[in-house]
Amino acid sequence: MKIINIVGARPNFMKVAPLHKEFSKNPFFESIVVHTGQHFDTKMSDVFFNQLELPIPNYFLGVGTGSHTMVTAKIMTEFEPILLKENPDLVLVVGDVTSTLACALVAVRNNIKVAHVEAGLRSFDRQMPEEINRILTDQISDFLFLTEKEAKINLLSENIAEHKIHFVGNCMIDSLHYYLPKIDDHKTLQEFNLNSKEYILVTMHRPSNVDTKDGLEKISFMLNEISQHHKIVFPIHPRTSDRLNHFGLLGKLKQNKNINLCEPQGYLEFIALMKNCSLILTDSGGVQEESTFLNIPCLTFRKTTERPITVTVGTNQLLDELNPETAIQKTKEILNGKIKSGQCPELWDGYAASRIAQLLQSSFYAV
Ligand code: UDP
Repeated sequence: MKIINIVGARPNFMKVAPLHKEFSKNPFFESIVVHTGQHFDTKMSDVFFNQLELPIPNYFLGVGTGSHTMVTAKIMTEFEPILLKENPDLVLVVGDVTSTLACALVAVRNNIKVAHVEAGLRSFDRQMPEEINRILTDQISDFLFLTEKEAKINLLSENIAEHKIHFVGNCMIDSLHYYLPKIDDHKTLQEFNLNSKEYILVTMHRPSNVDTKDGLEKISFMLNEISQHHKIVFPIHPRTSDRLNHFGLLGKLKQNKNINLCEPQGYLEFIALMKNCSLILTDSGGVQEESTFLNIPCLTFRKTTERPITVTVGTNQLLDELNPETAIQKTKEILNGKIKSGQCPELWDGYAASRIAQLLQSSFYAV
């Protein structure tokens, strides 16, 4: 069974790596990796290929940046000839980025089956580009693999046939299981000149938070306030640093000695930073899940989350809106010991990719 696995942006690499590994060790499968090049530089792409032991992609489309429409169109036109040449049995897409939807569309147009890994998640906020990608990809997929059981309710309410839906666990957490024992916490903390539990880790990149001056001013104010009492490490996403720079806010943050405004980190360094911090402030999708798995308190700057299990079962708490006062107050409470206890969600056990491979092997030709 020939599978084309699609990667395009940072959060895809840690989900596809365990799948490609699983497919590659089983002679039933032939596994090809196509990188669309939505993220293409060393810090947002290459480092993950090295660290996650992914092969050099069989095809690199090099689509780069642009409007959603342009990037979608470019991926589709670049991917179609490869699909026709390779004629796979299945195109496997993960998550909710532009590449996910664009490649799924090309596949169904050419009568190739689609598997969507991380299906059924809904924030119910259609202002998020990712929400549209999730809904549309799920509608045209033949195999929908869920990270949390409750996502099935979303899919059934959108009239997706039950036999297509499979609760398998979380491939991103497979990577965490695999690489946690291999990280060198000590080295990373030394590089950052930090001790375990003495700092807060921050990531922010959602357009709703970082695209406006108002949002960025609030984030800057909040970080400057919190940094009066706590060290902060903020690996900054290129989108956020561009916008901060554009609005003239980058300089002040850089001058703050308690805020380490660093480049996006490699996966191994970032999980070392997550595992050892006292609190995570984020708007990332994946980081909400990883902090739940690591049992680290997490405050998420979003009104809704498509990953509700991180709130109902895990350590995540949503901050209804970007209100610096509430965030500062909540941070204080958590660092003073008012910690929400959490548990590891069902099937986040390191075997999601293996369940997906088994399911495909046993049922693909029956569909
Ligand atoms: N991540 C990383 N380095 C960083 C920040 C994040 O390796 O500097 C990892 C993180 O551990 C998670 C993934 O990137 O596995 C999440 O990606 P991102 O936040 O860009 O996307 P989202 O999950 O919000 O779609």
